[in-house]
Parts: sequence; structure tokens; C-alpha cells
Amino acid sequence: MHDSHIHISMSPLKENIQEDIYEFTSNNGKHILIQTTDITDYQDSLDMYTTLKKKYPKVVNLALGIHPSRIEDGVAKNNLEGIEIFKYAQKQYELFKEFFDKNKEYISAIGECGIDYYSMDQYFNFSKETKEEIKEAQRRIFTKLCKLSLKENLPMSIHARDIKDSDKCVKDTLKILAKEGNGLIRGSFHSYTGSIKMLYQILDLGLYVGFNAIITYPSGENVREILKNTPLERILFETDGPFLPTQSVRKKKNATKRYGRPVLVKEIIEKVVEIKGIEYEKIESITDINYITLFGKEDKP
Ligand SMILES: [Zn+2]
Repeated sequence: MHDSHIHISMSPLKENIQEDIYEFTSNNGKHILIQTTDITDYQDSLDMYTTLKKKYPKVVNLALGIHPSRIEDGVAKNNLEGIEIFKYAQKQYELFKEFFDKNKEYISAIGECGIDYYSMDQYFNFSKETKEEIKEAQRRIFTKLCKLSLKENLPMSIHARDIKDSDKCVKDTLKILAKEGNGLIRGSFHSYTGSIKMLYQILDLGLYVGFNAIITYPSGENVREILKNTPLERILFETDGPFLPTQSVRKKKNATKRYGRPVLVKEIIEKVVEIKGIEYEKIESITDINYITLFGKEDKP
């Protein structure tokens, strides 16, 4: 099994990572792809990656990216308006690019990156105008990252999240991917929760879809529907740890570890067995091949 999307520099994964990776590899865990979100976690993640790499040379891969919601976080924190928003976004890209150029040899993918219209609407009180500017800033960064993905031939771990009953964000994401990539950008749509109609467009572009613990939640009906409509050859697994622990962990109020960690992919696969009626070993082996095909770079130091 593999975990194609995890944030190991976030607590409590950070403090428990040696134990959690040991637990994962002892349960046939083969690959994990470490995601990053902005300049605040690049160095930590790289340091943790190089340490883990010594002990588990074929297990860990590193992705470098800019999480779209980091833009609105910065806008809120610094009270930015108008042109300042675009300058801030550009600065984030420059910091990313500088780190990327310096550490290119360690990087297997661009991620986490994409567009998010949900968080800015849900957690902040931005004016309508500011929201539109943040969206445009997110799209500009994502466009730059797509260009880089193509230039460096690196796959992407893509985040796209809409407000309820809207397809706008996924549509904008696919538009940029198609325009910049000409169908050549490789990547995975992580934690896709949108419509079935847009799912087919994602698959048509040759992209993979990442499934996490949401399929184990009672509220995860739409994602179970997405799973039913996604062929095994395009499925990847992820925890998005330390977020999204599986349902069995959420239920155990006194469990010692109540966060998303790599071994929980096992429970996610068990749920897929139930939903798709395919045996565990087959799901595990085909999706591990998917991981290697997309993200595996055995030649990285
Ligand atoms: Zn993530």
C-alpha cells in the first residue's frame, strides 16, 4: 500500500513520524509522498525526508508546492487589498522557486497545489472584490506551477475544492491544466469531492484520483459514488494526515492516536473492497503500480 498525500511536518505526525513509518512499512506500506504547503514547511519537510530516506530509501518521496489556501491566509493576516494580494502571491511563488531550484534533486512532484474557493468563503469575511482577487491570485500561481510541471516533467498533486453545489473551482482547475499542459501534465486529484460529470473530465485528461478516509465516513456518500465511477487503474490512496483519521479511529474517543497516519490506508482499502467487490490484494497491487507510474522516482538520492 501507499500514501500519496501526507503532511509529515505537521503535529502530531511530526513528533511520531519514526513510529508511524515503522508501523506503515510493517504492514506492507511501500511508498509515501510528503506534501508541502508554503515556505514555512519546506525546510522541515526536506529535513524529515532526508532523515527518513536513510532508513527507508525506497519508501519516501517529496513534493514541493504552494497550497492555494495559503494565499487567503496571508491576505487575512496582513490585511492585504488589490494589487498587494497579487504581489503577495508572486512573492510566495518566488520563495517556492528559490527553494525548488536549490533542492531540485530531492523533489519528485509538485504539490500540494491547485485552487480552493471553499475555505475563503467558509472561514473568512472577505469582501466580494477581495475574494475575486484571491481567486485570480490562486489561478496565477497554479498556472506557473503547471508550466513548471511540464518543463521539469514532474507530476502534480492537485487540490481543487468548490463551495457547495458549484463546479466552478474544478472547472477553472481543469481549464488551466488543459491549457498549460496540452494534455501532457501528469497528476493526481487529491481528495476529490466534486460532481461525477467533472470526474469524467478529470479522467479524460489522464489524471488519477486520490481517495482518503472520507469514504469510511457516514457522510462520505458522494465520494463513495465517485469511487464507484473511477477505474482501479486510476485510483490512488492517501491519508492527508494528520487530517482525516479513518472512521474507526474517529469513533474511538480514547484512542492514543487520533490523527491521520499512513497505516490507516489499510482501512481505506478495506472499504474499497466492500464498495467495489474486488479483493484486497488486487486493489493493493494495482494501486501501488499506479503510484510508481505517477510518482515513483527510484533514482532520486
Ligand atoms: Zn493536503
